[in-house]
Amino acid sequence: MAKRLNPNNVKIHRSYTVSQIAYLYSVHKNTVHSWIKDGLATIDKERPLLILGRDLKRYLQEKREGNKKKCKSSEIYCVKCRAPKIPAENMVDYKPINKSQVLLSGLCPTCENIINKFSRLEEIKGIWAVQ
Ligand SMILES: [Zn+2]
Repeated sequence: MAKRLNPNNVKIHRSYTVSQIAYLYSVHKNTVHSWIKDGLATIDKERPLLILGRDLKRYLQEKREGNKKKCKSSEIYCVKCRAPKIPAENMVDYKPINKSQVLLSGLCPTCENIINKFSRLEEIKGIWAVQ
Protein backbone atom coordinates (compact mmCIF):
# COMPACT_ATOMS: atom_id res chain seq x y z
CA MET A 1 0.00 0.00 0.00
CA ALA A 2 1.46 3.28 -1.11
CA LYS A 3 -0.77 5.69 0.75
CA ARG A 4 -0.10 6.47 4.35
CA LEU A 5 -3.35 6.68 6.17
CA ASN A 6 -2.65 8.34 9.44
CA PRO A 7 -5.25 7.17 11.97
CA ASN A 8 -4.61 10.34 13.98
CA ASN A 9 -6.26 12.48 11.32
CA VAL A 10 -9.58 11.16 12.55
CA LYS A 11 -11.52 13.02 15.21
CA ILE A 12 -12.87 10.28 17.42
CA HIS A 13 -15.84 12.25 18.73
CA ARG A 14 -17.46 12.93 15.39
CA SER A 15 -18.97 10.78 12.72
CA TYR A 16 -18.11 10.76 9.06
CA THR A 17 -19.86 10.07 5.80
CA VAL A 18 -18.11 8.02 3.13
CA SER A 19 -17.45 11.22 1.14
CA GLN A 20 -15.91 12.94 4.11
CA ILE A 21 -13.56 10.04 4.75
CA ALA A 22 -12.66 9.91 1.06
CA TYR A 23 -11.89 13.63 1.20
CA LEU A 24 -9.95 13.36 4.46
CA TYR A 25 -7.62 10.69 3.11
CA SER A 26 -7.68 11.67 -0.58
CA VAL A 27 -8.96 8.25 -1.56
CA HIS A 28 -11.82 7.24 -3.83
CA LYS A 29 -15.21 6.64 -2.25
CA ASN A 30 -15.00 3.06 -3.50
CA THR A 31 -11.93 2.63 -1.35
CA VAL A 32 -13.94 3.62 1.70
CA HIS A 33 -16.70 1.20 0.66
CA SER A 34 -14.11 -1.54 0.42
CA TRP A 35 -13.01 -0.72 3.98
CA ILE A 36 -16.63 -1.11 5.09
CA LYS A 37 -16.78 -4.49 3.38
CA ASP A 38 -13.51 -5.32 5.02
CA GLY A 39 -14.87 -4.68 8.49
CA LEU A 40 -15.01 -0.93 9.08
CA ALA A 41 -18.12 -0.49 11.24
CA THR A 42 -20.92 1.84 10.21
CA ILE A 43 -23.47 3.21 12.67
CA ASP A 44 -26.30 1.48 10.79
CA LYS A 45 -27.18 0.48 7.27
CA GLU A 46 -29.14 3.68 6.55
CA ARG A 47 -27.93 6.00 3.85
CA PRO A 48 -25.95 8.10 4.01
CA LEU A 49 -23.71 5.64 5.80
CA LEU A 50 -22.13 7.15 8.86
CA ILE A 51 -18.96 5.95 10.46
CA LEU A 52 -17.92 6.84 13.98
CA GLY A 53 -14.58 8.54 14.18
CA ARG A 54 -13.36 6.13 16.82
CA ASP A 55 -14.31 3.12 14.68
CA LEU A 56 -12.50 4.62 11.71
CA LYS A 57 -9.45 5.36 13.77
CA ARG A 58 -9.34 1.85 15.19
CA TYR A 59 -9.89 0.33 11.77
CA LEU A 60 -7.02 2.31 10.28
CA GLN A 61 -4.76 1.46 13.19
CA GLU A 62 -5.54 -2.22 12.82
CA LYS A 63 -5.10 -2.00 9.08
CA ARG A 64 -1.74 -0.43 9.61
CA GLU A 65 -0.69 -3.09 12.07
CA GLY A 66 -2.15 -5.75 9.81
CA ASN A 67 -0.06 -4.52 6.92
CA LYS A 68 3.02 -4.83 9.00
CA LYS A 69 1.89 -8.26 10.18
CA LYS A 70 3.90 -7.71 13.28
CA CYS A 71 2.65 -9.21 16.47
CA LYS A 72 4.10 -8.67 19.86
CA SER A 73 5.24 -11.94 21.33
CA SER A 74 2.10 -12.13 23.45
CA GLU A 75 -0.09 -11.66 20.37
CA ILE A 76 -1.27 -13.88 17.57
CA TYR A 77 -2.42 -12.49 14.28
CA CYS A 78 -6.12 -13.04 13.57
CA VAL A 79 -6.75 -13.48 9.86
CA LYS A 80 -10.41 -12.66 10.22
CA CYS A 81 -9.94 -9.47 12.24
CA ARG A 82 -6.73 -8.68 10.37
CA ALA A 83 -5.10 -7.63 13.57
CA PRO A 84 -2.80 -9.01 16.21
CA LYS A 85 -4.79 -10.28 19.16
CA ILE A 86 -4.00 -11.43 22.62
CA PRO A 87 -5.60 -14.89 22.78
CA ALA A 88 -8.83 -15.05 24.79
CA GLU A 89 -8.18 -15.42 28.50
CA ASN A 90 -4.52 -15.49 27.67
CA MET A 91 -4.80 -19.20 26.93
CA VAL A 92 -3.00 -21.03 24.19
CA ASP A 93 -2.58 -24.63 23.24
CA TYR A 94 0.86 -25.50 22.18
CA LYS A 95 2.12 -28.25 20.01
CA PRO A 96 5.81 -28.95 19.60
CA ILE A 97 6.84 -29.05 15.95
CA ASN A 98 10.46 -29.86 16.57
CA LYS A 99 13.06 -29.19 19.23
CA SER A 100 12.80 -25.45 19.12
CA GLN A 101 9.58 -24.67 17.27
CA VAL A 102 6.07 -24.83 18.60
CA LEU A 103 2.66 -24.16 17.16
CA LEU A 104 0.49 -21.98 19.34
CA SER A 105 -3.29 -21.97 18.98
CA GLY A 106 -5.70 -19.76 20.81
CA LEU A 107 -9.05 -18.12 20.35
CA CYS A 108 -9.44 -14.61 19.02
CA PRO A 109 -11.12 -12.58 21.79
CA THR A 110 -13.03 -10.59 19.18
CA CYS A 111 -14.35 -13.07 16.62
CA GLU A 112 -13.59 -16.38 18.37
CA ASN A 113 -11.78 -17.61 15.32
CA ILE A 114 -8.92 -19.99 16.03
CA ILE A 115 -5.65 -18.14 15.75
CA ASN A 116 -2.31 -19.84 15.26
CA LYS A 117 1.27 -18.96 15.08
CA PHE A 118 4.60 -20.64 15.03
CA SER A 119 6.91 -19.57 17.72
CA ARG A 120 10.13 -20.56 19.29
CA LEU A 121 9.95 -22.43 22.52
CA GLU A 122 12.37 -20.04 24.20
CA GLU A 123 10.32 -17.09 23.13
CA ILE A 124 7.09 -18.30 24.68
CA LYS A 125 8.56 -19.42 27.98
CA GLY A 126 8.47 -15.95 29.47
CA ILE A 127 4.96 -15.21 28.24
CA TRP A 128 2.80 -18.21 28.73
CA ALA A 129 3.08 -20.94 31.26
CA VAL A 130 4.40 -23.93 29.37
CA GLN A 131 3.43 -27.28 30.77
ZN1 LIG B 1 -10.55 -12.29 15.23
